[in-house]
Amino acid sequence: MAMIPEESIKAVLDATDIVDVIGAYFPLKRAGSAFVCNCPFHNEKTPSFNINPAKQFYHCFGCGESGDAITFVKNYENLPFTDAVKKLADRAGVSIIEGAYDPKIEKRQRSRSKLIELHNAAAEFMHLMLRKSPHAAHAREYLKNRGFNIEMAERWKVGWMPDNSKLFLDWAREKGFKGRELIQAGLAGLRDERNPEAGLWVRFGNRLMFPINNDIGDTVAFSGRQLVEDKKSGKYINSPQTQVFDKSRTLFGLDKARKHMTKAKFALICEGQIDAIVCSEKGIQNAIAPLGTACTEHHARILKRYTSEAVLCYDADNAGYKAMGKAFEHLAPVGIHVRCIDMPKGEDPDSYIQQHGIEAFQTLLDNAKEYFEFKLDQESRETNLADIREKTRLAEELASKINLISNKIAQDTIINQVAARLGIGAQDLRKGMRKAALGQKRQRDYDKSRDQNVDHNGEPMEQKAIQTQLDSSVSMLCSLALNSNEAQEIIREQLESLHNPLQNTTGGHLLTTILARKPDASSNSAVMAYLTTIEPGDRMALQQTLSYRTPEDIQKATMEGINMIINSHYQREETAVRATLAQPGLSIEQVSHLMQRTKELQKILKNLTNRYIR
Ligand code: ATP
Ligand code: MN
Repeated sequence: MAMIPEESIKAVLDATDIVDVIGAYFPLKRAGSAFVCNCPFHNEKTPSFNINPAKQFYHCFGCGESGDAITFVKNYENLPFTDAVKKLADRAGVSIIEGAYDPKIEKRQRSRSKLIELHNAAAEFMHLMLRKSPHAAHAREYLKNRGFNIEMAERWKVGWMPDNSKLFLDWAREKGFKGRELIQAGLAGLRDERNPEAGLWVRFGNRLMFPINNDIGDTVAFSGRQLVEDKKSGKYINSPQTQVFDKSRTLFGLDKARKHMTKAKFALICEGQIDAIVCSEKGIQNAIAPLGTACTEHHARILKRYTSEAVLCYDADNAGYKAMGKAFEHLAPVGIHVRCIDMPKGEDPDSYIQQHGIEAFQTLLDNAKEYFEFKLDQESRETNLADIREKTRLAEELASKINLISNKIAQDTIINQVAARLGIGAQDLRKGMRKAALGQKRQRDYDKSRDQNVDHNGEPMEQKAIQTQLDSSVSMLCSLALNSNEAQEIIREQLESLHNPLQNTTGGHLLTTILARKPDASSNSAVMAYLTTIEPGDRMALQQTLSYRTPEDIQKATMEGINMIINSHYQREETAVRATLAQPGLSIEQVSHLMQRTKELQKILKNLTNRYIR
């Protein structure tokens, strides 16, 4: 990243009046030679935020925040320092000299800004279409039925992409955007890859369009909702990954919500963008939504810039619970405290608010439970925690989640609460945490090594796929399954007993998908073709396994791999059962149940060993 030299910073400050800058964000009152207002960095009722025009300096007597115009823009907008300088430089018409000129960076920036220009213009075009096109009456009607009025549609720049692709392509040509740029933006594609003359097809035809903005409000992608149900395509589709859009690093609504998050001291994370819009419009303006993906570690780091608490509002079904668990796993490590709203089954914020009103939803929000309390409530509703296996599984899962809490005091409190509710000793829970921590450390080291490809904005330098991790026995079995139909057959025969173990083994899902897709292992090209259809990260992992030497005795090697996976699975369970047995205060019934299970497990493990040695 190019450095901004000191003289440029000075020139920017010289050309800037801090009173104008801050006054552009909110009204200021004169107080003698200074100006005052309520502090934007903390909540207060009487103004203690002072701006001194003579010294070009601000200071809050309430929270201690202070600095110059650059500091203000940087902190208020949560921008990197250089972006704050550039913003003020633009405003004051000062050109800044950046350090070392790098033609590659320069080129990338130029094409990025062209793409953003295209997205911004396309959003306007589609918005106009929605408002005015005689062919968009059904879209307007749909939007009205969902409770959107004109002002709402305008604020969120909702649009409509014509069904007739010519309209959009003509508009683009007239505006001077090239076909190549439309393709780069993911708005269009070549009808025929080998013959560019055949023209372009346009994505999103006849969809209701929601612009997806970056944190400073530039449109970088779109999400389009079907207006006419068509099972062959998704209800929503998003722009593909482009130079300016990566859905794992983008949050819908962030540009509007970020300052409200800081103020309200939490972010409301909804599942769908309409949910975020409706909440925001009804006054819960700190609402955002990921784009049809789980919340990622990048999302977590972005949110952490603005707030240290997130309230999750996901569907009350298995998929929703799972997504909340995943979100917790990314949010907790960066120090974000997680609470969850207990939604009635089948409702989302949008449907709930339409039906019961915003006050009722606000009550749900106020009653959001701390993540572990929510999780334990939900588990005790849906599983039988008297069953020792269920309880063991839950204790293991919770132990690894508790490990993720970065605040040690919060962690201690949670340990005691969770242990009490599970009816186990806090020491045992801690033991479980230490065990889980070993695996988690490996994962972290791996995450760290791959984060080095990210620049200062948290944007990927190059779109590199991240190789999926595989447990060593899984990778051996994947290798065998891709090299030999016989091996595939053997594994398939054992699928029943592999089912649970694979779910608990790193990368186990990949083996399951190979077995489901059945690529013909005797044909090199069939395997290669199969690999092109899967996620890049998965592909990299499998490609690596392809280079393994094929063992002489395929049958034996396959059985060994299968046994190893099953074996470690039951061994883990056995360890957990033993740990539970070692606790004081178990009832006779519980002890006998546990002893019984220990016996069963020993038998299973012994049989496995016999099979393994044969
Ligand atoms: P609506 O209220 O318009 O039916 P929703 O937001 O309630 O939409 P959900 O099915 O709960 O719809 O989906 C939540 C979010 O997941 C959507 O807002 C969208 O971002 C994303 N999504 C849903 N379906 C798909 C899909 N088929 N492909 C990609 N993303 C999708
Ligand atoms: Mn909905």
